[in-house]
This record gives sequence, C-alpha cells and structure tokens, in this order.
Amino acid sequence: MIVLKSRAELAKMRDAGKVVAEILALLKERIKPGVTTAELDSLAEKECRKRGAKPAFKGYGGFPYSICASPDDQVVHGFPNTLPVSEGTILSIDFGVIYRGYYGDSAFTAAVGSINDQKRHLVEITEKSLSLAIEQVCCGGYLYDVARAVQGCVEAEGFSVVREFVGHGIGKGLHEEPQIPNFVPDAGRGVELKPGMTLAIEPMVNAGAPGVKILRDGWTAVTVDGQPSAHFEHTVAVTENGPEILTQI
Ligand code: MG
Ligand code: MG
Repeated sequence: MIVLKSRAELAKMRDAGKVVAEILALLKERIKPGVTTAELDSLAEKECRKRGAKPAFKGYGGFPYSICASPDDQVVHGFPNTLPVSEGTILSIDFGVIYRGYYGDSAFTAAVGSINDQKRHLVEITEKSLSLAIEQVCCGGYLYDVARAVQGCVEAEGFSVVREFVGHGIGKGLHEEPQIPNFVPDAGRGVELKPGMTLAIEPMVNAGAPGVKILRDGWTAVTVDGQPSAHFEHTVAVTENGPEILTQI
C-alpha cells in the first residue's frame, strides 16, 4: 500500500529532509584527499544528535554506521573506515535521518581532488539522470516515466543502471511502497503518481556492466567488473504543482 501524506505530514518530512540536506552539505565540504570516511561518519552522527534527529541507517537491518560511504567500484552500502581517501577517488555518501517520526534520505557522489574524465562524466550523468527523473514527478504521471528518464539518460552515454537496488517510497518508514526501479521493468506504466506520495529516487549508475556483487561483510555492493559507480538520491514529494525536493537546502 502506498501511503499518501497529509499537509501536516509533508511539513514534518520537509523538516527531516532539511536535516539530511544540511548534514550532507557539511560532509561534502569535508571531502578532500586524506579525509577518512570514519571521520565523516562521526561528523554525521554528531550533527544528527545536535539537531535532535537520529541517523536512519545505524542499526537498520543491522547496518553498523550512520552513513554509507562507497568509493569508486563500491555501488552502495559501503562501510566507513579509517583509511585516508586518496586523490582521484569518487566517493558516494548516502545518509538518512529520522526526525519527529519521519524519514529523509539522500545521497551524492563527490570527486576527491581531481578525477579522471571517465569518472567525471559518470558523476555528471548520474546527477543529470536524477534531475531528469525528478522532472517526471507530476500528478497524472506514472512511476515508469521516472524510471525511463533515468534509464534513457544513462544508457545514451554507454553507462548502465543497477538492477539489484531500487528507490523507494519513504515516510514513517525508511522503505515504503512503491519500489522505484531505475529501469523500465515491464510493458506497464507503473503506479500513477498522486499528490502526497513521497519518493526516494536514487539512480545507481555503473560506468561498465550493470552487474553487482556483495562483499563478505554482507553489505558492501561492488561492481562485478571493477569499474566505478555513482549514486545520487533525493527525497521528493508529489504535489499539485509538480515535484518538491525535500532534501535540498
Ligand atoms: Mg539513501
Ligand atoms: Mg534510499
């Protein structure tokens, strides 16, 4: 069942989204050669508590950290660690909070110092695919319009969309219905988009083949071919006036 949020609930989700956006902005500023993802994780947790919010991922299904930190060929769900991140890496940070009963969820991929052309293009296209997807979030539109926007943008550049992980509805739950694939899965249109739906749209894009595998830690997803992967995500509300991005300051 897809939960439609009332105006009052949307106001709370706006607040949760703002907390996520503020903290991700702080993390982004810290991303430089030599930073460790453990430092970013501690900062995220500290800033969360300061705002009276709770990190959404810590303890979720047993995930042990506040952020997911996924460099280069890691697709999603990477563990923060104490190794300094080196110049030329692309680093995906995924972060969510629960605040006054509602979740916000967002992610970005950042360049660590200067990066090669392939990685730069991958990051640009992944971010663009999210923007194009969000443009499709209109009343009377359908879920697969969103999926098609991502897939079309990504595949036109010779990159590929990850199949194993998808976006999701979000609200009182971190993962609500509907699932939001980044590819068109069948000949249908998907559910109709209605005001009050709140969607975490999150293209995960591989420079090479779409395949992923999970490392022995049981969480970290990496590309099968070792090529880099990028990830962007926003929590977006469907309104009568079109999309409202809740995780943008
Ligand atoms: Mg996320
Ligand atoms: Mg998500």
